[in-house]
Amino acid sequence: MALSRPFQYAQPKGALCCGSVALEGLVRRFGTPLYVYSADQIVERLGLFQQAFAGREHLVCYAVKANSALAILKLLAARGAGFDIVSGGELERVRKAAPEALSRVVFSGVGKTAAEIDLAIAAGILEFNVESEAELELLAARARRMKTRARFALRVNPDVFAETHPYISTGLREHKFGIDIRRALALYKQWAGNRWLQAQGVSVHIGSQIRSADPFGAAMERVHKLVRQLAAAGIALRSIDAGGGLGIDYHGCSFDAAAKVDEYAAAVQQALKGFDGMLLLEPGRFLVAQAGALVARVLQVKRSGSKTFVITDAAMNDLIRPALYQAHHEIVPVTPRRGRVRVVDVVGPVCESGDFFARDRKLAPVEPGDLVALLDAGAYGMVQSSNYNTRLRPAEVLVERGKARLIRRRETIEDLLAPELV
Ligand SMILES: *Cc1c(COP(=O)(O)O)cnc(C)c1O
Repeated sequence: MALSRPFQYAQPKGALCCGSVALEGLVRRFGTPLYVYSADQIVERLGLFQQAFAGREHLVCYAVKANSALAILKLLAARGAGFDIVSGGELERVRKAAPEALSRVVFSGVGKTAAEIDLAIAAGILEFNVESEAELELLAARARRMKTRARFALRVNPDVFAETHPYISTGLREHKFGIDIRRALALYKQWAGNRWLQAQGVSVHIGSQIRSADPFGAAMERVHKLVRQLAAAGIALRSIDAGGGLGIDYHGCSFDAAAKVDEYAAAVQQALKGFDGMLLLEPGRFLVAQAGALVARVLQVKRSGSKTFVITDAAMNDLIRPALYQAHHEIVPVTPRRGRVRVVDVVGPVCESGDFFARDRKLAPVEPGDLVALLDAGAYGMVQSSNYNTRLRPAEVLVERGKARLIRRRETIEDLLAPELV
C-alpha cells in the first residue's frame, strides 16, 4: 500500500509543499514560525489503526496531549475516534471541538483533582483510568455526591521494559504511573461491590516512542492473565485499554506506517486471544507526528571558531523536543539552493545554550532570509510550546485536500499580557 508523505518537493520548481500547497505561500499569508499540518495524513493514520483492529470491537481514543488543536480533534471525532485525556482542560477541548464525542473519552493521569473528576462524571465519559487506591476512593466519593455510578479501569503497571528515552518510559515499577499489577487483583475484589463504582476494564500505557511491538505484546499478556484471574473470581471486565506509545521513525526515509500498525496489532491481538470484550487504543504521536512541520525563517548564519550556527526565528519555546529529550528532527530547506552541504548547529534566539534544534548536522546550504522546515513536528510540538523570553507562540495551519486554513492565529502581545496586573 503506497502511503502519502505529507511534505514533499514539488516538481519541477522544487519548493517544499504540504500535499499540493506550497509552504512559501503559507508563510506569505501567515508568517513564521508556522506549524503546518496535513489533515489527510492524520485521517490516513487513524484509518490504519481502525483497519488493523477491524476484526474486533475496538475504539481508538486519540491521546489529546500529543496535539490538542480543536480542528484536529474535530477531524478525528468526525471519523469515529474517541479521546484519551489527562486533564480537565483537555476535557473542555473535546467538549468544544466535538461534544458528541464526550461519551468516547477515557480520563488518564496520576493526579486528578476533585473538580476535574466532577467535570468528567457530569460529562458522562466512557471510563476513568485510575492510577492509585487513593484515587479510587476519591472517585467513589465524588460519584456518590453526584449520585452517578462512575466506570473505572485500573491502570496497572505491568513492569515491562520498553526501550525509549527515560523521560517517556512509564511501564516499570519504579515509575510514578499506575498500580502494581500484583496488587490489582485484590483492589478489584475490594471495590467491585461498591455502589458508586463500576469495574469496567483495565488499562496500561508503557511509554512513548516505542519502536518494537514486543513490549506491547508482553504487557498485554500480563493484562490478559489478570483479566482471566478476575473472571475466575466473578469479576467480568468489559474492556482492555492497551494505551498508546507506538513510535515513528524521526530519521524517516523508509518508514512503512501500515506495516508498523499491522505488526503492533498482531502482537496485541495475539496476546488477547480469547478476550472478546472491547479493546481501547490510545495512539497519540503515531497519528499526528509525521503530519506536521514547523516552518522557520533563517535570521543569520554566524561563524564562531570552527562552528557555524544557523539561527532561526523559531526556538525551543516553539518546539522543545530536541532540548528536552535530545530528539532528532530532520531539517530541510523550503526552497533548495545550489551549493555545498555544511555541518552546522541550528539554533533559536532564546537565551539558553539548550536552545538548539540540531548540533553538528549536515544541512543543505541556506542563507539569511531562507525558510527551513523541521519535519515530524506534529506531536508534542505546539502543545509543549511556551512564552519563554516573552515570545509569541506560532500560528497553526491545517491543509485538507489541497486547501489550507488557519486553525490558530499567531499570538499577539496583547494576548500574552492580558492576564497580568501591574
Ligand atoms: C501520552 C499518553 C498516550 C499517548 O502516547 P503516544 O506515545 O503519543 O502514543 C496514551 N495514553 C496515555 C495514558 C498517555 O499518557
